[in-house]
Amino acid sequence: MVSCGDMNPFDAELQRRLEALREQGLRRELRRVDSPAAARITIDGRTHLNFSSNDYLGLANHPALKEAAIRAVEQFGAGAGASRLISGSLAPFHELEETLAAFKGTEAALTFSTGYAAALGTLTALVGKEDILILDKLVHACIVDGARLCGATLRIYRHNDLNDLEEKLKWATKNRPQATSRILIVTESVFSMDGDAAPLRDLVALKERYGAWLMVDEAHATGLYGPRRRGLADTLGVSRGIEIQMGTLGKALGASGGYICGSRALVDLLINQARSFIFSTAPVPAAAAAGTAAIHLVQSDTGRELQERLWARVAEFSAAAPHLSPAPPSMILPIVFGDETRALQAADTLRGQHLYVTAIRYPSVARGAARLRVTLTAAHTPDDVVKLVAALNLLTP
Ligand SMILES: *Cc1c(COP(=O)(O)O)cnc(C)c1O
Repeated sequence: MVSCGDMNPFDAELQRRLEALREQGLRRELRRVDSPAAARITIDGRTHLNFSSNDYLGLANHPALKEAAIRAVEQFGAGAGASRLISGSLAPFHELEETLAAFKGTEAALTFSTGYAAALGTLTALVGKEDILILDKLVHACIVDGARLCGATLRIYRHNDLNDLEEKLKWATKNRPQATSRILIVTESVFSMDGDAAPLRDLVALKERYGAWLMVDEAHATGLYGPRRRGLADTLGVSRGIEIQMGTLGKALGASGGYICGSRALVDLLINQARSFIFSTAPVPAAAAAGTAAIHLVQSDTGRELQERLWARVAEFSAAAPHLSPAPPSMILPIVFGDETRALQAADTLRGQHLYVTAIRYPSVARGAARLRVTLTAAHTPDDVVKLVAALNLLTP
């Protein structure tokens, strides 16, 4: 290792910052994987059981998605060449958006390079300095960043607390900068780091009463919930009460890209004003084709079987480790340590047994709320769950 004395002042400063992160248990490192993203991954030449993936249905490495991607490369090439408004919009994106809108039961859909870009572009297009944005305390970083960037007045309500949300709505109604000011509420449906669900029915009723708009991020629900696997909003029958339905193609759908589903007017406005859509090269056509194949697959009998398999693993985990299981059951299992270093040590211990589970720390969760975030997928076997529970039982949270 190079000592700070040999470094130029720039690198020496950055090295000091990295050291400070390490001392707080917050230093992050990339771990190289020499195999496809799947339930079994190869690290340092050894097979590990992967309990950290959001590929909840095991689609990332599914033949139907791979074949669709390969066909798209052959037909449309490796790259998109420019932003969709500049050089023309390749057919695979249109097919994907038509498939998505039909899947979600909305008039239209628009896809972005990532869910992160979808949140940033949508929030900045829809609200600005004259408007008021009200967020659940635990929404994803992309919504927090979009909120900061759009310049709207920001209010945060306690996680899933409708009384606190109503307080914020009352405040917002009284304190609108202008008569035309809008109030937008943003929540996730199933929360990424805790696996719990927002009370969407009550939320929709409340926002109707105050004339606010609602945006729901279904990143961890699309493909997984309900008889149609459309997500939690559809399962609860409240999709029509949600102006902006957001999600990603990169998790249960196994591909890549972010989406917004809603009215034709919403999508047309985003095409005109979402800067992360306008000023960014379109994703590779293969990603769109894989996304389309994933949505078809999720809607098929195979999709239903994968969904059943996932929830069977969740039930097996709950039965074997009720003390570690969230209620209601979820494929996201947070095992909270609090202390960052202890969470890291627990992850190291599991990795020693070839179980890959990431320690989630600030700023992904609050300081002092570090955890192992265990995720189950349809690609895990009952025996994998047995191994996981045995290893977790030896840890002391
Ligand atoms: C992962 C995630 C996103 C971002 O989606 P990407 O496609 O990965 O950029 C947005 N919201 C939530 C809740 C997420 O978990």
